[in-house]
Amino acid sequence: MLIGVPRESAAGETRVAATPETVKKLKAQGHQLRVESGAGLAASATDEAYAAAGAEIVDRASAFAAELLLKVKSPSAEELTLVKPGTALVGMLNPFDRAGLEALAGAGLTSFALEAAPRTTRAQSMDVLSSQANIAGYKAVMIAADRYQRFFPMLMTAAGTVKAARVVILGVGVAGLQAIATAKRLGAVIEASDVRPSVKEQVESLGAKFIDVPYETAEEKEAAEGVGGYARPMPQSWLDRQKIEVAKRVAQADVVITTALIPGRAAPVLVSEDMVRAMKPGSVIVDLAAPNGGNCPLTEAGKTVMKHGVTIVGETNLPALVAADASALYARNVLDFLKLVITKEGAFNVPMDDDIVAACLMTQGNEVKRGS
Ligand code: NAD
Repeated sequence: MLIGVPRESAAGETRVAATPETVKKLKAQGHQLRVESGAGLAASATDEAYAAAGAEIVDRASAFAAELLLKVKSPSAEELTLVKPGTALVGMLNPFDRAGLEALAGAGLTSFALEAAPRTTRAQSMDVLSSQANIAGYKAVMIAADRYQRFFPMLMTAAGTVKAARVVILGVGVAGLQAIATAKRLGAVIEASDVRPSVKEQVESLGAKFIDVPYETAEEKEAAEGVGGYARPMPQSWLDRQKIEVAKRVAQADVVITTALIPGRAAPVLVSEDMVRAMKPGSVIVDLAAPNGGNCPLTEAGKTVMKHGVTIVGETNLPALVAADASALYARNVLDFLKLVITKEGAFNVPMDDDIVAACLMTQGNEVKRGS
């Protein structure tokens, strides 16, 4: 099969969908690989490394002229003019972007969005949300530590004692857990909040304190359990009580990292303007929900702003700031997914009885297949 790996063209996108490691494996399976010149440069993968792994280094048009395209982001309108109808596409295609999916269908692509894979054990090795959120959680703490004008660890020096930073993490999914682990390694004192009760044990096992907001009604408990591993919107009664508890912690915090998301909806507001006003000058908020509207209304997507003496980081693509490892993990996710849609004989197929393939299929034969 002829597989193309174009250079990503979206602003700030430094990742690449195949690395020399995965190219070598695909080559060993008998595929022909075309990598656009410079596709991996921002992720520390040179043309020479791809060539040594068995790829042909080609120009942009040739990279798109393949049977199967491996991408990070959904192709732009300009890129869609380069693809032939019937081409297969694997990437992070944003399953909730109906207009984007219609554009892919219009171009005749058979496309798979890896973000739509179910949260099951079998799908774990191709779970791009997890592999990239893990990196985002790590990088959020790195950025916070960089912006914060004090130490994270407690220090006892001849010049006096320095207090440990107090870090509050709101939303403890994959990114939040990694943020806790990373802040802990730097010596911070950490508290964390999430709607899902199962998180408490995970938070405590990482040495952080869980901000308990007990469920008072069956409706609250049921919403908190979520569906398929994801959070559902919580009843207002619980959110009001959570806000009071979180506000107390945020007022004392030096760093707040917010990661709360509800798939397909705007991110919940967890840090209000009043709460920011009550924070200490020099505190830092890193809002991982910035691309989905932010967990703080003062967050500006793609920017770092100073509001009421607090630095608010609204970086929208944190994994792209750790491009080499983000690409390495993403490319392995892609490679694992390809095992489901390429037969042992090397032919492309779409086995709709496979739950992962069926969930990821977004467009086929000019039609949007996804229900939402
Ligand atoms: P996510 O990125 O969708 O959301 C981040 C976190 O925000 C979630 O923990 C969510 O509960 C939380 N949140 C939502 N609203 C909130 C609010 N109002 N206040 C506080 N927190 C709020 O989540 P994710 O990182 O994709 O992970 C979701 C879950 O799925 C996790 O438990 C994760 O461990 C699990 N998971 C399972 C598998 C698997 O079984 N294969 C794979 C990946 C993740």
